Amino acid sequence: MSTDALIRRTRRTVLVVEDEAVNRELLGFILRDTYDVLCASDGVEALDIIRTHVGRISMILLDINMPRMDGIELLHRLSEDEALSRIPVIMLTSDKDAELETLRLGAVDFIAKPYDMPEIILARVKRIIEFVEDRQIIRDVEHDPLTGLYTRSFFQEYCRRLLAAQDGPRRDMIAVDVDHFRLLNEMHGKAFGDEVLMTLAEGIREVAQERFGIGCRSDADLFFLFMDHTDDYQAVYDRLIRRVQSLGRLNNLRLRMGVYSNVEEERPLEWHCDAAKSACDSIRNNYTRSVIVYDDALHERELYNERLIADMDAALAEGQFVVYYQPKYDIHGDAPRLYSAEALVRWIHPELGFISPGAFIPLFEENGLITRLDDYVWHKAAAQIRDWKDRFGVSLPVSVNLSRMDFYDSRLQERLLGIVRDNGISIDELVLEVTESAYSQNMDRMLATVTELRRAGFKIEMDDFGSGYSSLNMLCLMPIDALKIDMKFVRNIVNAGAGYRMVELVIEIAKALKVPCIVEGVEDEAQYHLMKRVGCDVIQGYYFSQPVDADHFEAFFK
Ligand code: C2E
Ligand code: CA
Ligand code: CA
Repeated sequence: MSTDALIRRTRRTVLVVEDEAVNRELLGFILRDTYDVLCASDGVEALDIIRTHVGRISMILLDINMPRMDGIELLHRLSEDEALSRIPVIMLTSDKDAELETLRLGAVDFIAKPYDMPEIILARVKRIIEFVEDRQIIRDVEHDPLTGLYTRSFFQEYCRRLLAAQDGPRRDMIAVDVDHFRLLNEMHGKAFGDEVLMTLAEGIREVAQERFGIGCRSDADLFFLFMDHTDDYQAVYDRLIRRVQSLGRLNNLRLRMGVYSNVEEERPLEWHCDAAKSACDSIRNNYTRSVIVYDDALHERELYNERLIADMDAALAEGQFVVYYQPKYDIHGDAPRLYSAEALVRWIHPELGFISPGAFIPLFEENGLITRLDDYVWHKAAAQIRDWKDRFGVSLPVSVNLSRMDFYDSRLQERLLGIVRDNGISIDELVLEVTESAYSQNMDRMLATVTELRRAGFKIEMDDFGSGYSSLNMLCLMPIDALKIDMKFVRNIVNAGAGYRMVELVIEIAKALKVPCIVEGVEDEAQYHLMKRVGCDVIQGYYFSQPVDADHFEAFFK
């Protein structure tokens, strides 16, 4: 039997409220075969029973004229209580005038006295109980339990109905996302995360009401708003962010808002939601923008991205990905000494030309394709180490990049060891760069995996240090062999200003952790000397060389 049928089979309870004993008996007789029947002889007694059995009573049959508390008064009392007001009430009456008033108070139907048509009474009670229960089931799936907003499928259905209305106003579809919500959950706890979502939902509900629209929570921290067109999206954003920030603790919190302006009836509604969401996603790593409107340029970029994803398989098979190498120099001595190289991938696309990793790496990280590309680069880099060893007699370590996704493969270490073995290189020659933000996103797993990789003999460099959210505490726990300072530190250096002090601080951290410090993005002589002065160990940057292909790299051996 289906759950539905099972639920339908369980007996419901009906409360009969009637002061005349004969009438109570009569109604009890009519209903008893189908329902459990409770009886009360006036409003006071009824209220008592209702309160002790709340949640169990499916229907109340209520007389109007009774001593102590009459039916009208009881209806009043029920309507004041959220839980009690949900129990459907059928009035027992012979008084036409009273009918109207009870309707206003929320009664759903009437049964006229005398009770001479038992089948009709029973059928009416049955129909109403079923109707009310069905409505409740729908309401439950319609709404997200946490925020009370619509769920996505119902939201879309209602949007469609709103759009179908003739000559409706122009409307916008807006996606709202909490930036770094997972991190917020981890740092402040899930209860606080829920509070943020509920508060944001309140803001969305408020805006929706004012602009004759509706809102929904689509999943996790993604919300949609469908409302009358506005020209001032920033104002909507400001209201939402102000509300969330009123919770305190969250001065850095950012929302992202993607807008599809003027929804078009000819296009499927789903398409508009997707467009608003991809606008929202497009500013994920852009900290200067929180609001963006979907436009042709964004559409073009989407098509371009789809093309890259579609072409990836063929590109791997045909060797379109080319690994470039950028030297890192040890700057301790009088003259800089070649220390290692970083492998950086490029895509030479037969039709689109040279594509830099910034255009496809984040894309492949999003959908998981990155793991296959990384694997390819690791193989190439290992083979290159072998080749240089054979031809130049040098042992130059090469670092490769690992993405967050790589850590979800339980065979990661096995694969890396296989690559080292197959190419006959030593394990500390294939250095692994792991970006700082990957650490902060899944601390426990990262800690375990990195520890094991190091135990196996791999050297780990923490990449982009200073761009993530690591606490000093976490740094002390992290097993690493070198810190790579994020490029933005060098960018911010202006002689002896605060930027300079920052680099000094970061280098002090590296010294405290007893690991070498690699500074990236050193572009000119002035920066080079500054770095030397603050005690930086290794430098990677255009000052020495841009990333170049393997052939050009050989010049550095000579
Ligand atoms: P990254 O790992 O932080 O790599 C350093 C980036 O800084 C490289 O950009 C490099 O060309 C650039 N760079 C180096 N020196 C300078 C400088 O003096 N000035 C400036 N302005 N830039 C400099 P690239 O090659 O475009 O790579 C960008 C990012 O793409 C890398 O950042 C890395 O996160 C990712 N990436 C590249 N190859 C791979 C790969 O094979 N796998 C994975 N997972 N990620 C990769
Ligand atoms: Ca790197
Ligand atoms: Ca880096």
